[in-house]
Amino acid sequence: MCGIFGVYGHRDAAALTQLGLYSLQHRGQESAGIVAVDEGGRARVSRAMGLVSEGFEEAEMMELKGPIAIGHTRYSTAGASAIENAQPILARVRHGHIALAHNGNLTNAVELRRALEDGGAIFSSTMDSEVIVHRIARAQAKSPEARVAEALEGVEGAYCLMVVLDETVVVARDPHGWRPLVVGKLGDGFVFASETCALDIVGATLEREILPGEIVAIDEHGLRSIKGTEGAPVHRCVFEHVYFARPDSKVFGGSVDHSRRALGRQLAKECPSPGADIVFAVPDSSNSAALGYAAQSGIPYELALIRNHYIGRTFIQPTQAGRDAKVKVKYNPVRELLEGKSVVMVDDSIVRGTTTRGLVSLVRAAGAREVHMRVSSAPIISSCYYGIDTPRREELIAAQMTHDELVRHLGVDSLGYLSLDGMLAAMPEGPDGYCHACFSGRYPTAIPLEPELLRAGGGPR
Ligand code: SF4
Repeated sequence: MCGIFGVYGHRDAAALTQLGLYSLQHRGQESAGIVAVDEGGRARVSRAMGLVSEGFEEAEMMELKGPIAIGHTRYSTAGASAIENAQPILARVRHGHIALAHNGNLTNAVELRRALEDGGAIFSSTMDSEVIVHRIARAQAKSPEARVAEALEGVEGAYCLMVVLDETVVVARDPHGWRPLVVGKLGDGFVFASETCALDIVGATLEREILPGEIVAIDEHGLRSIKGTEGAPVHRCVFEHVYFARPDSKVFGGSVDHSRRALGRQLAKECPSPGADIVFAVPDSSNSAALGYAAQSGIPYELALIRNHYIGRTFIQPTQAGRDAKVKVKYNPVRELLEGKSVVMVDDSIVRGTTTRGLVSLVRAAGAREVHMRVSSAPIISSCYYGIDTPRREELIAAQMTHDELVRHLGVDSLGYLSLDGMLAAMPEGPDGYCHACFSGRYPTAIPLEPELLRAGGGPR
């Protein structure tokens, strides 16, 4: 998963892009980068490992001049976490330059890469995204948007792209629409972003979503759109609303906060907790769902678990049991709220179960009498191949244990998951048009032939 942001037609394009990336930090913390193009058509890049706040030196930012910029925050799903895999990619080609930022995962990247390598292409990273750069470089069409469209023929899987071809910005969203992408206005310029919270930070006004299958180009001749797949079935990622996007964003046309509260209300209807004293969230992504649960059930909402926001990306793990230590560094319970109580702990999802188990033991150690776990999504039972880094099925706890085994393993008094139908019913535009493969195992497309090779980036055979 990644965040992408772009500006066309503003003299502070790179500085605005840096601001936008701050708002998209939750979509990727491994590396961040910006490519800016100045009025003479010269492209410059700055990329670094780590957070946006750590990545850009002031002197470097001063060099990123011009009215065009695109940026990227990375969370690796294909290719290792390393500086050569930081984006945007910047390549010099016969036409000039290609810069590219990608959010998503190409399901046929391994095959596409092999075909390019067999033709002599040399890759400088292990990212699936580099395949698209090669294909754009080879495209013969005349206009920038037609070149991108030509390059994307035969590319399968999830992509939201921001591409700069010389002095034209081209953005594209795959026909299934797995990942979100919006366009906004800022003065005479345009801003593109994965989520609307990144428009807010730069003061841009939301214009609209980029449609599934749409390619939009903007340059001195204005904004043009190719709408490729109108009427085709879409598969927006339901997990964006459940967990990934920020609650202050509108995603796929609907408020994330609203959908999470609706998930929480539905969860309270399907899995009530009669007699419980308080409801609390596993912060932060579950806050809105827990508020919805509390509102529906009438059980008081409390801030019984506090998250430490200042940990940074890594910390030295003490030798004592890693799991508990990790959870304790991130969360601390409020003993005064928990002591002697029957509590409802709301989380948005359970993946491996290690964090949940650690949290339950913390909450019990803080004096909770009963712990009732409620999850505002269906059980995760399958891997994602469309841009979210869920583990292999063997590591997904709900795929490996029965309900009773899970109750015992997590150490809870009861466990309630939202049903798949209930989850989809809570989506802003109703239950249709969503991908739910990780919850249902029903993949909307063919899945990669060699998933492990895809994770590794389809590198050398
Ligand atoms: Fe989203 Fe799950 Fe579909 Fe992946 S498999 S796109 S996480 S709903």
